[in-house]
Amino acid sequence: MQTSNSKDTPDVDYDLVIVGGGMVGSAIACGLAHSGLKIAVLEQHQPMAFSASQLPDLRVSALSVASEQFLTRIGAWKHIQAMRLCPYRRMSVWEQHRNPLLSLLPPQLQCTAFDSKDIGHSHLGHIIENRITQLALLERAADFPNVTLITPATLQNLELAPNKAKLQIVDHQGASSTLSTKLVIGADGAQSRVRTWANIGLNSDQYGQQALVINVEYQGQQEDITWQAFTPSGPRAFLPLMDVDGKHYASLVWYDSPETIQHLQGLDAAMLKEEIARQFPATLPPLVQVLGKGSFSLVKRHAQRYVSPRVALVGDAAHTINPLAGQGVNLGFQDAIRLIETLENALRKGEDIGHLSALRPYEKTRRRENQFMMAVMDLFYHTFSNTSLPLQFLRNAGLGVANQLPLGKRKVMRYAMGLEPALPLPFHKPR
Ligand SMILES: Cc1cc2nc3c(=O)[nH]c(=O)nc-3n(C[C@H](O)[C@H](O)[C@H](O)COP(=O)(O)OP(=O)(O)OC[C@H]3O[C@@H](n4cnc5c(N)ncnc54)[C@H](O)[C@@H]3O)c2cc1C
Repeated sequence: MQTSNSKDTPDVDYDLVIVGGGMVGSAIACGLAHSGLKIAVLEQHQPMAFSASQLPDLRVSALSVASEQFLTRIGAWKHIQAMRLCPYRRMSVWEQHRNPLLSLLPPQLQCTAFDSKDIGHSHLGHIIENRITQLALLERAADFPNVTLITPATLQNLELAPNKAKLQIVDHQGASSTLSTKLVIGADGAQSRVRTWANIGLNSDQYGQQALVINVEYQGQQEDITWQAFTPSGPRAFLPLMDVDGKHYASLVWYDSPETIQHLQGLDAAMLKEEIARQFPATLPPLVQVLGKGSFSLVKRHAQRYVSPRVALVGDAAHTINPLAGQGVNLGFQDAIRLIETLENALRKGEDIGHLSALRPYEKTRRRENQFMMAVMDLFYHTFSNTSLPLQFLRNAGLGVANQLPLGKRKVMRYAMGLEPALPLPFHKPR
């Protein structure tokens, strides 16, 4: 990969320009690099380099086994392993209810617990800082001379003509230049400007809850479990992170009303630690300190189309989902797999990769699959936000029944790991 400062870049022709060198955009560059296409990745922020003594970032994601397999296949996983990652072997979900009547249900009927051993796997997934995944992918992309990373540079304008797209970009010193290409991939996140310039409409819906992500140091042993307790005001989640200098860290996610999240956001570290001790389940290991926090409003967004002439949208540019089941970037990597497959098929048939007919197979499968996952998340969200007593009984019993049916449980586990339904990995193995 060549690294280019946009100031020095003359108007250049590329086969493919990926706007956004985040996790999904850079994964597509790695997956398509073997095709020989001349690819540019445009990224406005250069991620900070890794050092082993850095405390964990606030932005982390639970990556499924399916995402791990994809990242291995495109040659990026080894770079993540060379930095840091935290496997989790167990996962537990339960409802933290306050109604004494619900205590009448036997304890084993109030919780679902998964263990990777039950299906012969060493782990269910990994918690990884988003920046580490991005750095690993950019490092892998650097192996390919046909991939150019243009950073820091921002897309300023996009003109779409029948046979090509023209992108006006500007670097951090204000110098602008123009790129032209057959296909623009919008991997530029939830506020995608590619989506806007391509005139692709968006369905969006704000959830009633917001999320506060809190990084903490905790005492005791390094945890290998991720858990989520549903409370009447929203879930409380625990995600273990990799040890740094022998100290244990975790990412907590506190979902609640916007007013509560705003209140928590205003607390200092010591007060927030006390509030967490009061409001999180007793399962939480004792905390040493709160390191940092950040709030996120939760918006469901779905692009009305994923493709238009000369444009394809992927990842958060195409869809955002409630993070309560940690699916967002895992779905983005599934988009990447399908788009790579679609473009390789088009190249094999000698088709123009920016032509709508070449892009449609990607949209056809991925829009439907993402729509389904969004509906499942909505069902979860609305079912667990409802405080009616009969429904509380039903969902507790549901969690318990899921826990008691080994076959069903294995199926759910494989689904959570992204292994069911299995997606083919059609493109070449890394050299
Ligand atoms: C609280 C929270 C918890 C989450 N937890 C999980 C989880 O556990 N598991 C999971 O799978 N997902 C999770 N997600 C979702 C996950 O973070 C996103 O799905 C993922 O970051 C999307 O990746 P992306 O590459 O599509 O977009 P982004 O990460 O948004 O990357 C877009 C990139 O495009 C660049 N860019 C934007 N505009 C321009 C421009 N005009 N010019 C140049 N560059 C541009 C940006 O700088 C950025 O690098 C969570 C989300 C939240 C909010």
